[in-house]
Amino acid sequence: MQSKLPNLGVSIFSQMTGLANQYQALNLSQGFPEFDAPTLLKERLAHYSQSGFNQYAPSSGVPALQQQIAELVERKYGLAVNAEHSVTVTSGATEALYVAIQALVSPEDEVIVFDPAYDSYKPAIELAGGKTVHIALTAPDYKVDWQQVAEAITDKTKAIIINTPHNPSTKTLKQADIESLKVLLEQHDLYLISDEVYEHICFDGQAHLSALRDESLFARSFVVSSFGKTFHCTGWKMGYCVAPAALMTEFRKIHQYVNFSSFTPAQLAIADAMAEQPEHIDELSAFYQQKRDLLIEALAPSRFKILPSEGTYFLLLDYSDISELDDMAFCEYLVKDEGVAAIPLSVFYNQAPNDKVIRLCFAKEDSTLIAAAEKLCQL
Ligand code: PMP
Ligand code: GLN
Repeated sequence: MQSKLPNLGVSIFSQMTGLANQYQALNLSQGFPEFDAPTLLKERLAHYSQSGFNQYAPSSGVPALQQQIAELVERKYGLAVNAEHSVTVTSGATEALYVAIQALVSPEDEVIVFDPAYDSYKPAIELAGGKTVHIALTAPDYKVDWQQVAEAITDKTKAIIINTPHNPSTKTLKQADIESLKVLLEQHDLYLISDEVYEHICFDGQAHLSALRDESLFARSFVVSSFGKTFHCTGWKMGYCVAPAALMTEFRKIHQYVNFSSFTPAQLAIADAMAEQPEHIDELSAFYQQKRDLLIEALAPSRFKILPSEGTYFLLLDYSDISELDDMAFCEYLVKDEGVAAIPLSVFYNQAPNDKVIRLCFAKEDSTLIAAAEKLCQL
């Protein structure tokens, strides 16, 4: 069979977690929490699955969850969205991103993506017959040059994908970025896919600048989020998309034939947790900031240069004072010989710069973070 994605192998997350398991290393590579989901959430999942809620949910989502999502959007970002027409529950943010891209992109369309980019965007664009236009952001500040973005826009450009807080760079877009983005979208009549899976993990008192804060920006946006990140349950693969009704109609035409609907008991359980424990979301930034600070302090004596982490649950380390190896080789050495699994940044680029930077996930128990830092301080 001819491959539709000939240049693609196994994802870096599967690779590095596989190596971490094989070498029994501390796994700070793939981004998932080491700790468990909130008790209420697990209890409600059990409750609903034992109480007969085991058949298909409505394709767009269980109404109680759509409603909770709409209320969260209004409470956090001040935008009133219609729960029934503008919110769709998906099987993870990955599905939402895939469906939004299929809904938007036709053969020959171009989509602008900022590298280092989360790895699911490009294959989805290519499967739609589109072309990914890469704009590289580099260490240490990973800033977007909006003039460069303006120059990359052609009459084939259909959309821009942003991700804030950004995986893997951890950077958040600032108000000036949002203004520049808005001008370009309006000038060239483009759509926005805004990947906001880390929306509730923003550090040092920053407010998350969601595309949902601005009515005219939202008018041309698919905004994607993930319950996996927010409720420490990445294995449930639950997420959602919020979009204006006309865009959502197109999104749903595809969603219904990708998987029709998502896991019913999980939807009901998440709706309960959102309604009964809203403080879980409100406290998430502080929870992860404490872990970030612990890891930074534990790594302070090391020879790594620690890049500032503005959001997400990742920390970037520059190892240029430690090794000449490229970042993939350095991560293989780390996992096999030093017992710590990390993610190389170069895999998220179309054309990787020569930055010697790796990513650590700090969604781990404090004891794991300290043990990993002790190993890294030996280098
Ligand atoms: N986007 C980004 C930037 C991510 O980091 C992730 C998951 N790590 C996703 C999308 C996918 O989220 P989900 O697991 O809900 O599919
Ligand atoms: N998003 C997670 C990360 O960045 C991994 C998700 C996956 O394994 N597909 O590490």
